[in-house]
Amino acid sequence: MEKIEILKQCIYCKCAKPEEEFTLEHIIPQFLGGAQAPDELKTRSVCKACNNNLGLFVDAAFEKDFMVFNALNEAAYSFFNPEKPSSFPLRSLGVSDLDPPQIQDNEVCESWLGPLGEQIYWIRPADEKMYWYSGGNPRTVKEVKTRAYFLWAERSQKNPIITYLSFKDAFVGRKVRKISCTQVDGIDIKDIGFSEPDRLDIERIGYFLKECGNGQERKNRISMYLHYDIRFMAKLAIGLNYVLFGKKIIDSNYSKELYKALWFREGDAKPAIKGQSNLSQQDSFLKEKCGIANGATITIHPVHNDIIVNLNLNRKMNWFIKSTQLDIVKDFITDDLKNGLCIVLFKTLNKGIKISFPDLIAHNHGNILHPELAAIQKQSDLHNDYFKNL
Ligand SMILES: [Zn+2]
Repeated sequence: MEKIEILKQCIYCKCAKPEEEFTLEHIIPQFLGGAQAPDELKTRSVCKACNNNLGLFVDAAFEKDFMVFNALNEAAYSFFNPEKPSSFPLRSLGVSDLDPPQIQDNEVCESWLGPLGEQIYWIRPADEKMYWYSGGNPRTVKEVKTRAYFLWAERSQKNPIITYLSFKDAFVGRKVRKISCTQVDGIDIKDIGFSEPDRLDIERIGYFLKECGNGQERKNRISMYLHYDIRFMAKLAIGLNYVLFGKKIIDSNYSKELYKALWFREGDAKPAIKGQSNLSQQDSFLKEKCGIANGATITIHPVHNDIIVNLNLNRKMNWFIKSTQLDIVKDFITDDLKNGLCIVLFKTLNKGIKISFPDLIAHNHGNILHPELAAIQKQSDLHNDYFKNL
């Protein structure tokens, strides 16, 4: 008997492909805590190729922006509990002006900061196309062997476990040879992935100790790409449109503009999408009202005749985009969506909370506190002084 193959359409590239070429797509990406979003906001209508490529070139382009990257890491610091020490993500400081021995022309020396003031210098391939990615081209750094040099801080000695755990987790999933420039007593650093220095390392250790000792000023270059967020917001709007309003919406006139934005290349005609990026929002109203501290908040909200998707990070950064016209989707407007639906995600805590937009506003005004959000807020920033006093 002949096998009949049923093809399915991918919501991003619109290609028809067999079922086995599809995979789970979180719509709200995992770096924002999307795994904790309600299941109805996830889909299996995205092909593996889009999941991989858009993950790398659209999601990562957003995640690795210098400001976003450091904002996402802040939550780990706020929720720190000294009773249960945990590892901290390193903070990106951009590409340094250092010139360590035998660095190649196609390499950069990127500077990172640990939780207690540790300095980390990572010599990795430069990437012209992804010049603004903190941590370089994610695909290259997974494959190419690189070296990173770690300088422990004086404060590391007082509570070595924090440095220990953070250094252990640093550069996981990348082929980084980790070298310690500092002698550490009482810890076998081979246990956390450090290697014995070879001749090149010994030369470089001498260099970093001389150049990066206490009190020396360093210059770092931070690169920013102003349009890093357009493709990302368009992708979020397309994905949410699909899971909330179904397949039909993909072919609306406005959706065509969203697709132009999703697949935008430098030099293309500007897509006619409505929205605002974080940098263009001078007014702090949306930044403060539409989010929760230390969380990523996604709001889907009817405004006049549009549906607006708003993304807020930590009540400090805010983006919004028109996802569709209200009259096209009016039959799909559930009670949840009527007044605005917010998903508040705390990736560090593995928590996702669904709340209505009016309740979020009331909570942020202090009128009616949302019990779960209030409990999380109580947990955060409890130990801010811990680091100061260490
Ligand atoms: Zn696809």
